[in-house]
Amino acid sequence: MRKTALICGVSGQDGALLAKLLLTKGYKVVGQTRKLQSSYPNLMKLGLIGKVDVLACDLMDKKAVKEMLLDVEPDEIYNLSGQSSVGLSFEKPLETFESHTLPVANILEVMRSEKLNARFFNAGSGECYGNSDIAIEIGMPMQPISPYAMAKASALMLVERYREIYGVYACTGVLFNHESPLRGERFVTQKIISSAVQISKGQMDKLELGNLDVIRDWGWAEEYVEAMWLMLQRDKAEDFVIATGKPYSLEDFVKATFDALGLKWLDYVSSSERYMRGNEVHSNYGNPKALKEKTGWAASLKMKGVIKKMLEGQI
Ligand code: GDP
Repeated sequence: MRKTALICGVSGQDGALLAKLLLTKGYKVVGQTRKLQSSYPNLMKLGLIGKVDVLACDLMDKKAVKEMLLDVEPDEIYNLSGQSSVGLSFEKPLETFESHTLPVANILEVMRSEKLNARFFNAGSGECYGNSDIAIEIGMPMQPISPYAMAKASALMLVERYREIYGVYACTGVLFNHESPLRGERFVTQKIISSAVQISKGQMDKLELGNLDVIRDWGWAEEYVEAMWLMLQRDKAEDFVIATGKPYSLEDFVKATFDALGLKWLDYVSSSERYMRGNEVHSNYGNPKALKEKTGWAASLKMKGVIKKMLEGQI
């Protein structure tokens, strides 16, 4: 029997990439978006217009969520919705908090009360664990220091408790930074790639960034959506870290990008207060070992591979 997947937040980077993956696996894919739009750039770039049934639903509204879930009857639900920029969450704390917690609470509550026979994946974040000099694993204490991280930590706990108390099949993939050409320029990787390409063509002189010392774990988003799917194929719902496991500084990322274009980064890049955050996580990277052991998944592209692919998407 053909399975039906419901992707909440289908218009974002991960939603579109997951839709593509599930279509190739033969799923019927229904994509939720907050409001119907005249165009869906990410779905369009992946050639998915007309292949995904897009529906509008306000995930903050429990009644609407119930109607959607009873109508679609999904076998698998993936929640990839919500305000996804840590930086922007400092400017929009309440909207960010609500956008990550209420949809999860509503979906879980409908699954519980209607006894839905569906599996639920929620996109979590490594940011919940705050600053760490060691690779982050499930079970380590969470130390959220941004509104975004507080929201994702709350959602992770909701999923954990509904699974434990009510036996709902629900799990969180604790995702570390994962990139693709579908990323908006609000995210630092896309900002660096597109600026470096413009500099290499003589269309731009300088690139201003914030803190170059931060350490992150950058992977390739297309591989990460495969991990989401693999998590829902397991009989037992469990949370996992989805990461490359390789920490790099932002300076490493900048240098490798400019090197790949034959440019000296120090000639063009500066650090400015303007792009620094009030409350910054210095070091944040994940340990994907448990996921590898249970599903065989491992990130094949690490930072340099991600840069290469992003440059190919740009030039
Ligand atoms: P997010 O923090 O996961 O939402 O991802 P970003 O790509 O926005 O930021 C990743 C890291 O890069 C953070 O530690 C930022 O503080 C740092 N960063 C340094 N300069 C910049 C910049 O100019 N823009 C952004 N977005 N982030 C920057």
